[in-house]
Amino acid sequence: MADDCIFCKIVAGDIQAARVYEDDNTIAFVDLNPQAPTHLLVIPKEHIADLPALSENPQVSAAFLAGIRAVAEQEDLHAFRTVLNTGAEVGQSVFHVHAHVLAGRPMGWPPG
Ligand code: AMP
Repeated sequence: MADDCIFCKIVAGDIQAARVYEDDNTIAFVDLNPQAPTHLLVIPKEHIADLPALSENPQVSAAFLAGIRAVAEQEDLHAFRTVLNTGAEVGQSVFHVHAHVLAGRPMGWPPG
């Protein structure tokens, strides 16, 4: 756990979030600032800053992907977009790796 990490505080239960899913390695909760009718954040319980750091841990990486799949199945999402922002320049604001899972409205490609 990183002391100054808001998502670690959510994992620990020190900050409330609308949790929708939890397993041994992963939690998912509703994004505070939703960009789609369904906008969930899936995070590893372990503090890992970003995707490059996550890739150094194959076990947590596999559990993270499995967690995304489990959340999508639980929420009955037949089509969804998964976004992992890496770096402040593209919008990463919380440096605890997280997948945005977005669904429930048409989404163009490429994104704006
Ligand atoms: P990113 O910009 O990719 O780092 O995404 C961080 C996301 O975390 C943003 O979409 C925020 O709305 C969301 N967020 C920040 N704090 C909270 C919180 N306490 N509960 C739920 N979502 C949060």
